[in-house]
Amino acid sequence: MNIILLGPPGAGKGTQAARLVEHHGMRQLSTGDMLRAAVKAQTPVGLEAKAIMERGELVSDEIVSKLIDAELTAMGPDVGAIFDGYPRTAAQAEQLDAILARHGRKLDHVIELEVDEDALVERIIGRFTCANCGAGYHDIYKLPKVAGVCDKCGSTEFKRRPDDNEETVRTRMAEYRAKTAPILPIYDARGIVTRIDGMAAIDTVTDRIEQVLAS
Ligand code: ADP
Ligand code: ADP
Ligand code: ZN
Repeated sequence: MNIILLGPPGAGKGTQAARLVEHHGMRQLSTGDMLRAAVKAQTPVGLEAKAIMERGELVSDEIVSKLIDAELTAMGPDVGAIFDGYPRTAAQAEQLDAILARHGRKLDHVIELEVDEDALVERIIGRFTCANCGAGYHDIYKLPKVAGVCDKCGSTEFKRRPDDNEETVRTRMAEYRAKTAPILPIYDARGIVTRIDGMAAIDTVTDRIEQVLAS
């Protein structure tokens, strides 16, 4: 099974992808996570991407498609893939088709999480993650069960992304509207898009996605 989770920044893609990984042993392929790892490791890709990401603009199509291709090669053919935050442009959508064909995979579902923009800003400003295991949290919507302690690994260190500020979020949303939303018709034409209300509670969104996967 190969699925794309599509939606603006803060829509809940990462949150839902993590649950699918847990429930189905699928693999989350988040270009954002891959790029942040490259920035941290100061690889050539990371050095090129850092300033672009801080501005909330998009990194080049070639860079992200290469990251995805390499990850698919590394994981072998039998593991399902959840594309999270990729593709984000028409060129990336085309590149993904070619990459999947090369790996003998086909796209089963594109799930679009629909959310309103004011909620997105609030979600992104409140977002934080465990510094040790990467588990995702929110100041209002998803606090750890014990204050200050990660539910998953017990760590007491958390971090926030440098691009999760109101100004950058507006740029990221504008990028989504201008470059990412227009790729949906490509997948609509193939009849594989399901739109889900991303404003619902986290568990409700998960249930809806599970229904789609079972269909
Ligand atoms: P969000 O969680 O807000 O959807 P991501 O973690 O997916 O954000 O991405 C963070 C940043 O990394 C983006 O603002 C962009 O600069 C870069 N990025 C991630 N994925 C892509 C992609 N597929 N194409 C271009 N740039 C990307
Ligand atoms: P994305 O990967 O699409 O950028 P995230 O999954 O990181 O989005 O979610 C953004 C923030 O909103 C996180 O802090 C997360 O805990 C929270 N969140 C995710 N889904 C929901 C939801 N359905 N309702 C309320 N908060 C949510
Ligand atoms: Zn943790």
